[in-house]
Amino acid sequence: MTSPKFWLDKKLSEMTNEEWESLCDGCGRCCLHKLEDYETGEVAYTNVACRLLDITSCRCKNYPMRQKLIPDCVLLTADQVQEFHWLPEACAYRLISEGKDLYPWHPLVSGTPDTVHKALISVRDWAIPEQVAGDLEDHIIQRGDFRAKKDVLP
Ligand code: SF4
Ligand code: SF4
Repeated sequence: MTSPKFWLDKKLSEMTNEEWESLCDGCGRCCLHKLEDYETGEVAYTNVACRLLDITSCRCKNYPMRQKLIPDCVLLTADQVQEFHWLPEACAYRLISEGKDLYPWHPLVSGTPDTVHKALISVRDWAIPEQVAGDLEDHIIQRGDFRAKKDVLP
């Protein structure tokens, strides 16, 4: 049986598949295109969403087939914890891998996915589809843009 705050009681590697999947808050941030500096390894986010992202719901339009349809789609697994630094700072997988608690807007805490949008954590209001974006380099956003949005957290 899942404990009320299983994310604090268990390591990522100990979670059931259901617990693991429930950690995703549906922000859609990891589905933004990113550019990696091959010399420094630094990852720059853009405001351009993967073509399979439904920007209104911030959910993948074909989650079961995502890796077949989008070969670049990264499948997160517990044995990659050391590599989670590229994820947005507020991503639940990154928070838990760093020994931190979830934020109050996380659906597991608030009880509703709406809080992710209300707290401006999701990309709903500012992502654009890759079909209309053009050159990704024109769409780079600073990680600070993510942090600025966190300033409005409850
Ligand atoms: S950034 Fe993390 S919490 Fe947000 S959609 Fe991606 S995996 Fe889920
Ligand atoms: S395929 Fe789906 S899960 Fe993968 S990056 Fe695109 S929208 Fe996100």
